[in-house]
Amino acid sequence: MTEYDVAVIGSGPGGYVAAIRCAQLGMKTAIIEKYSTLGGTCLNVGCIPSKAMLDSSHHYEDAVKHFQEHGIDIPGEIKVNLKQMITRKQGVVDMTTKGIQFLMDKNKIDVYEGVGSFKDATHIDIAKSDGKNETILAKNTIIATGSKPSTLPFITLDKERVITSTEALELKEIPKHMIVIGGGVIGLELGQVYKRLGSEVSVIEYMDRIIPTMDAGLSKELMKAMKKQKVKFNLSHKVKSVERKGKEVIVKADDKKGNEVTFTGDYCLVSVGRRPYTDGLNVEAAGVQMDDRGKIAVNDHLQTNVPNIYAIGDVIRGAMLAHKAEEEGTMVAEILAGQKPHIDYNLIPGVVYTWPEVAAVGKTEEQLKEAGIAYKVGQFPMRALGRARASMDVDGFVKILADASTDEVLGVHMIGARCADLISEGVTAMEFRASAEDIARMSHAHPTYSEAVKEAALAATDDRALHV
Ligand code: FAD
Ligand code: NAD
Repeated sequence: MTEYDVAVIGSGPGGYVAAIRCAQLGMKTAIIEKYSTLGGTCLNVGCIPSKAMLDSSHHYEDAVKHFQEHGIDIPGEIKVNLKQMITRKQGVVDMTTKGIQFLMDKNKIDVYEGVGSFKDATHIDIAKSDGKNETILAKNTIIATGSKPSTLPFITLDKERVITSTEALELKEIPKHMIVIGGGVIGLELGQVYKRLGSEVSVIEYMDRIIPTMDAGLSKELMKAMKKQKVKFNLSHKVKSVERKGKEVIVKADDKKGNEVTFTGDYCLVSVGRRPYTDGLNVEAAGVQMDDRGKIAVNDHLQTNVPNIYAIGDVIRGAMLAHKAEEEGTMVAEILAGQKPHIDYNLIPGVVYTWPEVAAVGKTEEQLKEAGIAYKVGQFPMRALGRARASMDVDGFVKILADASTDEVLGVHMIGARCADLISEGVTAMEFRASAEDIARMSHAHPTYSEAVKEAALAATDDRALHV
């Protein structure tokens, strides 16, 4: 039986990063993945393919709507070739997942293809894809089995017309009318992809705003921008049935007043969140406890109740984000090596890759109010930037929340072009406990979108914005 210092179950961004860091720190490491490609949800059916589709559909939208204004005439009709778009997306995925295999080889990590399940706290059985079983001995195990789409109890996901994000990344035709249940990250990103490609898109959201966990200012601005793109929103609607009839999907919901509303489309994307995935893992055999939400319960060191078993990523509490999983993978590896790493969960940024992009770090205005913390607001509109006007991406703003007495930055919330990349300035500032004035006094290249960060910081510092 092969013995390892560490076995990692699951090869998503949590698992593969944990494995690399363990190997870097000199541990003999194995990674077990049930699928034939590494990279988990993120690389295969999540972050990467969805961004590939967002980018392709964005190019199409630009070609149709904006090229002429830029002085670019394309003779003839501009058409979508969905098959090619999906082929390109798959090419990006394949290249990326092969890259992980390369990293495993480079770091001398043994890769097992098969379903990992606990026999006890140190023995893991691997049901391999070739039908054979193998047991390995692991001094320590990191559970990184991720998540799967969740649904509502009355919905049958037929995966043809009543679909999750996984199928939405593989469609054979452009829907005529896509009904999206859930106005969160997946619903808006993939809803926008198909809207750009020509579908009618109706979003049904249970709460009274989209992206309800983000700062309310961002929800409002994103909805305004997406309404301009003709996405239809139905807020405060409670979906009560989803029925497939031939090529039609009929969704019934109650609106705020309790009136029944019927939506008829040809596809329904169910994007109401994801659930932790532990099927087949047999954690009971190792004595690992779950929390009341079906997640693996861990302490502040990401250790389960069984001392040599840790868990990271989507399968434990907290935001279901790739970079959160990665930080946790690194943290566990360093703990196993005797180091004392730390993650500040308040400083894990959240991004929605619609256009305009939405990004945030730290506390929202709602959270600060609830906590009774006095704060100042500095906000700057993207349209006041020369760079935004040059590219015609004028929607959005940057908002900085700073402590009313100390000026420490408590939250950065932004919507606009390239905010997914701009947010790292907010993270850096907050990691170093910068004040709004610290940001305001730093030089920001002109003309860039980053000037909106400086201007918002100036606005938070005695209302000193220069260009409004
Ligand atoms: P996963 O990536 O889910 O990986 C878990 C792996 O474990 C899987 O490969 C699974 O097959 C394997 N596994 C499970 N059980 C076993 C077993 N018993 N034996 C062997 N292997 C097993 N996050 C972002 O930060 N940015 C984004 O832009 C983003 N976009 C997304 C878009 C979509 C459409 C979706 C669905 C998700 C997106 N996410 C995004 C979320 C992100 O994908 C997850 O947060 C991330 O993948 C979690 O990583 P993980 O390592 O915890 O688990
Ligand atoms: P989500 O939690 O972002 O959004 C789900 C939405 O569905 C919420 O707005 C919620 O109020 C709504 N909802 C829940 N029940 C409903 C009901 N019965 N009727 C109508 N609406 C209902 O979940 P998601 O969009 O499915 O994404 C799942 C996870 O994947 C998220 O946790 C997210 O972190 C991750 N993800 C991240 C990114 C990114 O970082 N850009 C992209 C995609 C997915």
